[in-house]
Amino acid sequence: MEHRECPACGKLFLPRSQNPTQTYCSKKSCQRERRRRWQQLKRETDQDYVDNQARAQQAWSARNPDYWRTYRSQNPQYVDDNRTKQLVRNYQNRANMIAKMDASNSRKVLSSGLYRLILLPDPVIAKKNVWNVFLSLLQPPKFPQVAVIAKRGRVAK
Ligand SMILES: [Zn+2]
Repeated sequence: MEHRECPACGKLFLPRSQNPTQTYCSKKSCQRERRRRWQQLKRETDQDYVDNQARAQQAWSARNPDYWRTYRSQNPQYVDDNRTKQLVRNYQNRANMIAKMDASNSRKVLSSGLYRLILLPDPVIAKKNVWNVFLSLLQPPKFPQVAVIAKRGRVAK
């Protein structure tokens, strides 16, 4: 039997005789990666699979109604991290909506311009010595016009 390259770790391996079509090596991490990729593909291509997963999750939640409440009370750092992530997602969604409404949709990085700085409310994020702020661009930068002027100057010489 021929050696194959594992798509997860990139190393050569010999497929097991019990499984001649084996595509990933037998390492635990590579088998986990194979399973993860398979699930991702299923979620993207198989609506029945997605529906079944959702039903199974709802059934499990119904059988274990206190699981997440207990987990959150025992893991305050998890709660804090989730709040921060959700807050960032909320502001990103809002920023994306503003960007869609904005005609100049091409800017991807923070560039020079006039910004509004908003300090996010303290009770939501309770980290000390950290400012959590949301920036929204009020006025686009004026640099492209400067570049055009410079180019004209060079041509004139
Ligand atoms: Zn591997």
